[in-house]
Amino acid sequence: MKNLIVQKYGGTSVGSIEKIKKIAKDIVNIKNSGKRIVVVLSAMGDTTDILINKAKSINQNPSKRELDMLLSTGEQVSISLMAMALESLNESVISLTGFQCKILANEKLRITKIDSARIKKELNNNKIVIVAGFQGVTENNDITTLGRGGSDTTAVALANALNAEKCEIYTDVDGVYTSDPRKVSDAKLLDKISYDEMLELASLGAKVLHPRSVELARNYNIPLVVKPSHKKGNGTKIMEVNQVEKVVVRGISLDENTAKITVLEVPDKPGIAFKLFKALAKSNIQIDMIIQNINKDSVNDISFTIKRDYLEKSINLCKKIAKGLGAKDVIYDDTVAKLSVVGTGLAGNSEVASTFFEGLYEQDINIEMISTSEIKISCIIDRKKGVDALQHLHNRFELAGY
Ligand code: ADP
Ligand code: ASP
Ligand code: MG
Repeated sequence: MKNLIVQKYGGTSVGSIEKIKKIAKDIVNIKNSGKRIVVVLSAMGDTTDILINKAKSINQNPSKRELDMLLSTGEQVSISLMAMALESLNESVISLTGFQCKILANEKLRITKIDSARIKKELNNNKIVIVAGFQGVTENNDITTLGRGGSDTTAVALANALNAEKCEIYTDVDGVYTSDPRKVSDAKLLDKISYDEMLELASLGAKVLHPRSVELARNYNIPLVVKPSHKKGNGTKIMEVNQVEKVVVRGISLDENTAKITVLEVPDKPGIAFKLFKALAKSNIQIDMIIQNINKDSVNDISFTIKRDYLEKSINLCKKIAKGLGAKDVIYDDTVAKLSVVGTGLAGNSEVASTFFEGLYEQDINIEMISTSEIKISCIIDRKKGVDALQHLHNRFELAGY
């Protein structure tokens, strides 16, 4: 649609009634500049965490269906309050849930289809449309959610479905930085970053954008910008790689939501890794790094990392599979973190790896696992040392200075 902007405001940005009223005024200003506008909102402040804790105080392992039913209420509160704030400014507005917008999502937390007819109808009636982020509906008409931070993905998916001019993500920092500005005091605000670098940073723990939102924006070439909600600012544009100056290291991230599982002494024969990881994949547990240590007496140890949220589920599953595989035991380490450097100029530059490892050595940090790709190097380290290591490597790669 011509002249259409999709904006998304995160939890902190709508964390109080005052903030909702302030953003309502910002939205009116955009509307008055002649734009049509769809606004995607997250739940207010820590609402989602509070709801998860409530659920867990009743049942440590609630079913996904009932948990999603509960979590989706957070966004419903913020969209209705925002609509009321806009009504009080005499604006024509409507709030819509994921169900009402027919945002279809599957068990892999992916949006598979959006029926944009309802939103288009409301926009054509000159309404501001406020959509609940993070939630969708399954083929069976059950409410579902898109994973933590998923409102960003709702916004980009809507921008694509509605053919919007651009998608603006408003958050509680000034844009995308060389590292988390809450952990690295001299992190530098980037004015541009490529889709690929942003996707890596997001996947490696930079919470500022949900990884899937970056993937969608890249695949459908949607102009995406991250901006501050609390003040004016140009923010960071996420763009094609050839539109961004190439640097060796663009950013560093620390993922503290990671844990390591080791299956001890599995037989050293074909098919073992296949059976183990097939069972994990079937339960929708995403595996990150994998290492196989050759042991003595034709047995191996297989270690891998997963998101910490899935630790309990993964251990239970691994214990079951391990029995069938003839493994000795399953152990885990819940005190690790993943530290990563990202940059499109990293490919073929061997100095980055040596500077990275030297930096960790200088901090007396042991590397437990390593993985690399064309544009990133990641190491699993002791979580306690993570933030210091992040700051130290930020210095070593001189990221505050370029
Ligand atoms: P929202 O509620 O707006 O979705 P999030 O908390 O999900 O906000 O994401 C914003 C947070 O991401 C920031 O407060 C910041 O601490 C964190 N963050 C991590 N890495 C980065 C980075 N490289 N650049 C900017 N912010 C980052
Ligand atoms: N409210 C959800 C969460 O806290 C979704 C989001 O904020 O994007 O994860
Ligand atoms: Mg977020």
